[in-house]
Amino acid sequence: MRIAMISEHASPLAALGGEDAGGQNTHVAELSAALATLGHDVRVYTRRDDAARPVMVAMRDGVSVVHVPAGPPAAVPKDELLPYMGDFGRWLAAHWDDGAWAPDIVHAHFWMSGLAALTAVAGRATPVVQTYHALGAVKRRHQGAADTSPPQRTHFERRIGRTVDRVVAQCRDEIRELVRMGVPRARIALIPSGVDGSRFTPHGPQAPAGPATRRLLSSGRLVERKGFAELIRALPLVPGAECVIVGGPPAGELGAHPEAARLRRVAEECGVADRVHLTGQAPAADMPRWYRTADLVAAVPWYEPFGLTVLEAMACGRPVVATAVGGHLDTVVDGVTGDLVPPRDPVALGRALRRLLDDPMRRYSYAAAAEDRAAERYSWRRAAEQLQALYATVTGAVLTEAVAG
Ligand code: UDP
Repeated sequence: MRIAMISEHASPLAALGGEDAGGQNTHVAELSAALATLGHDVRVYTRRDDAARPVMVAMRDGVSVVHVPAGPPAAVPKDELLPYMGDFGRWLAAHWDDGAWAPDIVHAHFWMSGLAALTAVAGRATPVVQTYHALGAVKRRHQGAADTSPPQRTHFERRIGRTVDRVVAQCRDEIRELVRMGVPRARIALIPSGVDGSRFTPHGPQAPAGPATRRLLSSGRLVERKGFAELIRALPLVPGAECVIVGGPPAGELGAHPEAARLRRVAEECGVADRVHLTGQAPAADMPRWYRTADLVAAVPWYEPFGLTVLEAMACGRPVVATAVGGHLDTVVDGVTGDLVPPRDPVALGRALRRLLDDPMRRYSYAAAAEDRAAERYSWRRAAEQLQALYATVTGAVLTEAVAG
């Protein structure tokens, strides 16, 4: 099958950990690679954010990344990209019309890609599948006035959900949200993200250890809703442990980063500044080394559409303490592979962290169960196989042995 992945702001080739580059980039890169391994021909369309980028780059066998000229060829925050989605979609339509390559299926990632996809397929029979990655209604609920999404977001999300052929939800919580939004249940398929079990392994090289004897690790984009401030506020309840936060801008730019400055202030106020370390952005290839240094991994966002870092930590055989939100409710089995705690509650979090750090037997059993669960249920191959079956349903294609793997 010829598959067009549209990921307007999240390039599979981007460095991760910055404000607008994280899980979606990983997801699109890994899924595209896994679909190519199954024999498909995948093109990922992302916005050209640098004039120096070639139009087409081979990412690996069977996957090319196409840089679509829509809006200025410069970095633009994702919340300012809506005005360029018409051009994005029209460029795709013209590109597919020239006859060299046209997709059998279009899979849009994030709501704005959905708009570009629907513009691009107007007048064609090509089916569209949508993965939201995050929902405007949830963001508005949690962030209120701080949410900088375009005001039309929730309206467009509903329209997309009612227009496309299928919506892929990544967890059961997202299904509930989608149904609440008015997306017909019969059109929703549950296909969780995955983790690369060949890279995220318990044993292997480790990042440098710190002076403390116990290390908590947390990682992600340095934005308020990831809950790093609550994690720092929990630290006084966890004496002797250091807290390493991996993510954000490159290390050299941390000094000028407002969220990094805020976290440092919180650490000062709580009297734990000497136990909090911000590393800045880590290359994706280094993430397993970081997880492996942790006695436990904390993932404590206010809300989380899926939460790849939890799965990556689990695959590295690390016990997790995670907030009981979104994808964590599916990936973490409370009391078996980790502990779930209420979001935005530093006291409950501090108690859970301390209890687990003080209990090596429990950490050991969580770690073993977590590693098993990640390997058994969350491979990218499995996600790609489920997706391939979904594409076949909506295109009417019959999967051959070779393609079905
Ligand atoms: N990540 C990374 N370098 C960093 C911080 C994060 O490569 O410095 C990766 C991390 O390994 C994960 C992704 O970024 O694959 C974050 O995904 P998650 O689903 O946890 O959060 P999102 O970005 O979708 O909010």
